[in-house]
Amino acid sequence: MTSTRYDGDSWDLSSSVGSTATMAATARAIATRTDRRLIDDPFAAPLVQAVGVDLFTRLATGAEPPGEFVQQVWIDIAKIRTKYYDEFFLRATGSGIRQAVILASGLDSRAYRLAWPAGTVVYELDKPDVVDFKTRTLAGLGAEPTADHRVVPGDLRDDWPQALRAAGLDPAQPIAWSAEGLLGYLPPDAQDRLLDTITSLSAPGSRLATESRPNPQPGDETKAKEHLQQLSERLGTDNMTNLRYFGQRNEAAPYLAARGWTLDTATIRDLLATNNLPPLVDDTMQMGDMLYLTAFR
Ligand code: SAM
Repeated sequence: MTSTRYDGDSWDLSSSVGSTATMAATARAIATRTDRRLIDDPFAAPLVQAVGVDLFTRLATGAEPPGEFVQQVWIDIAKIRTKYYDEFFLRATGSGIRQAVILASGLDSRAYRLAWPAGTVVYELDKPDVVDFKTRTLAGLGAEPTADHRVVPGDLRDDWPQALRAAGLDPAQPIAWSAEGLLGYLPPDAQDRLLDTITSLSAPGSRLATESRPNPQPGDETKAKEHLQQLSERLGTDNMTNLRYFGQRNEAAPYLAARGWTLDTATIRDLLATNNLPPLVDDTMQMGDMLYLTAFR
């Protein structure tokens, strides 16, 4: 399967960029089943099963072992990433923020599994087929949101703030935003617009968690693309080299710092070490230097 990206393209959870959300949930399902020290996402496996892509289902349920490369670049990183964003939201709401916005929510189940303080409103925004499928599936499983949960179908390349406002978001009050596993799937100018829009909607006290990938050195991406292609063939997904936007872009960390955010950052390499996970033996995907960041307004 191959597909290329274009302005205004769309997808569900088994196609194009949507399949990357199912892939992320598959990694959380495997992590939850095999090592619950860092994360516990009981909804990941049933959601992946409901999507119904055969290999993802077999991986999520343990019928198929993931293999060493997938274990490292996918499952161990999913553990630290999920923990990072879980703690981000718990700290942000612990500090008094009562509006959380999960951008590109995919099969994220935080609205159903985190202990949100009373009065917290959690907005989830992703493509219509994605948010509809997840909400319907979790309702069918009898899952109850643990906050005031508001689902906002939309496209982050378009005028998405209007839809959030219509759902009740109040930009005059602080907001905790997450953009997890998203930026590389946006064209560079759409990433800049997204970060500008988040900045303009963020009252003092707001926070944002996202990732910042260092720009590639010449030749770096050729190796990364080969690996992504092998991984896609192994997983039977759309060729992931066609889903991400490669090349130079404004790196999120300095871009946000220049717009008045104060940053707290950690590399994936450091987070693997501090969480007692093995170091990356093969970093042709250039994951080690990627930053997880929390930005404070
Ligand atoms: N944040 C989720 C997680 O970590 O499990 C999903 C990450 S997945 C790698 C990328 C997500 O970004 C998908 O759910 C996809 O639908 C969403 N996405 C990408 N581009 C988007 C856009 N232009 N508008 C809305 N959602 C988008």
